Formats: sequence, structure tokens, C-alpha cells
Amino acid sequence: MQKTLVLIKPDAFGKNHSGDIIKLYEDAGFKVVAAKVMRMTPELAAKHYVEHIGRPYYSALVEFMTSAPLMALVLAGDDVIKRVRELNGATNPAEASEGTVRKLYAEDKTKNAVHASDSEASAAREIPIFFSACEMFD
Ligand code: ADP
Ligand code: MG
Repeated sequence: MQKTLVLIKPDAFGKNHSGDIIKLYEDAGFKVVAAKVMRMTPELAAKHYVEHIGRPYYSALVEFMTSAPLMALVLAGDDVIKRVRELNGATNPAEASEGTVRKLYAEDKTKNAVHASDSEASAAREIPIFFSACEMFD
């Protein structure tokens, strides 16, 4: 079964939208196989967002992601990587389609409610940053 890493970022988590967001994924047929509430450290952010280091928005991104707790999830299902990216909508909420998580709950390009892995390689790299095998149930 394909798996993907989702982060309900500090903006959406802090506004109590975790349940709403998880419901969207579950209603689309996906299964939560791991979940935890945690606070990102700058070290963890650097590991997770390694390909963004040096980009103009990087320091704002790390400041935001470490500012308050978030919820990390692993979702499983057919084509879950691509489908969850579709359910999340465009990175910039102003460009996100109606009904997507980012259209519903994101504020701006930095505070954009959710992260989801963008490929099988990213999912395989990202999931073990947040979860060990004994924390996943599928
Ligand atoms: P996505 O989360 O849709 O995969 P990216 O991988 O391109 O998007 O970027 C990672 C995260 O960095 C985004 O979700 C967003 O929080 C932040 N980010 C990306 N581009 C910008 C930008 N131009 N300005 C501010 N923040 C950005
Ligand atoms: Mg990305």
C-alpha cells in the first residue's frame, strides 16, 4: 500500500482544523496509519526541508514551522501521494481550487495549512524523519 507523509502545520493545527482535514482524507478513502502531535525543531526542519535551504522564504518557513505544535500523519491508500497533493491544493492558497484544504484553511504562501510528500522518493525519505516502524500500523 502506498504511503505519504502529511503535516498539519502550526496554523491549521492551532486553529483546531486537524479533525476537518483528517475527515477530508478519510472521506477520500485513505487510512491514517500513524499520527502524533509534536513541535518541530530547527534541526528537524532543516532535515525535512533540506531542498529549500538557501531559498528566500526558508527562514520564514522554519520560523513558522517551529513556532507551535503540529500534527504529523502517515496516510495509506491507492495513489495516496498524488491524491493527497490534489486534496491539499496549490502551495499558494490564492491559487488553490475550491474545496481543497489550502483553499479552506490556509492563510498565505508560508502559512499554508498542510505539507504532503510530492513523490514516492520524498515519502520514503520523509516518513522515517517523523516515525519509526513500530509507530506505524498498516
Ligand atoms: P509544497 O508544500 O506545496 O510542496 P514547496 O515544496 O514548493 O510546496 O515548498 C515547501 C513550503 O515552503 C511550502 O508549503 C510553503 O510553506 C513554503 N514556501 C514555498 N514557496 C514559498 C514562497 N514563495 N513564499 C513563502 N513560502 C513558500
Ligand atoms: Mg514540497
